[in-house]
Amino acid sequence: MKNTVTFNGVNLAPSKVVCVGRNYVEHIKELDNAIPIEPVIFVKPNSAISSELVLAGNDEIHYEAELAFLIEAGQLKAVGLGLDLTKRQIQHELKEKGLPWERAKAFDQSAVLSEFVAIVEDETELRLELFINGDLKQQGGCSMMLYSPSDLVKEVNSFMTLVDGDVLLTGTPAGVGRVHLGDEFMGKVYAGDQLLVEACWSANNRCLSAKTG
Ligand code: ZN
Repeated sequence: MKNTVTFNGVNLAPSKVVCVGRNYVEHIKELDNAIPIEPVIFVKPNSAISSELVLAGNDEIHYEAELAFLIEAGQLKAVGLGLDLTKRQIQHELKEKGLPWERAKAFDQSAVLSEFVAIVEDETELRLELFINGDLKQQGGCSMMLYSPSDLVKEVNSFMTLVDGDVLLTGTPAGVGRVHLGDEFMGKVYAGDQLLVEACWSANNRCLSAKTG
């Protein structure tokens, strides 16, 4: 069965989530990465999509809050909030060896997505805030990105077809960190001062307990 996202009350099954690494300078600095000469792009499959924040297995999982865009006819159609969950330690090991990141980035339930709402005309106004247990942990938006969402769509379409329902994650601002069981996440997407999306997730291990119980 395919995982789905919701836009205007309709469920869509993205074939993939296309993610962008290193799109905010402050986050590049916090992970001690180099500023890329072209967008760093990777993919999470449909099997990675989740509407819940689930900590399964024993690996430490880190959050990256990101503006998420739903694609239709090769264009940005709707916006939401995504958590690009990452097994940071495994990613470090893979990066050091020059290996692909799938074990760190493409595992089940690693793409946590809110519902989507129609996009506003001026994408530079779009921004996000992430609160954990009431504390503001991350904030950023299109005006701070190295590559705008429109540029990223063009870039991705130049070598990989974005089909209707696919999702683009546009990179994370500074402030990433570990997810702990029981953490209460609240993500918000604004166009300027107007709240477009509010998503709440409680970090749980429901799948794990379902399997063992
Ligand atoms: Zn990310």
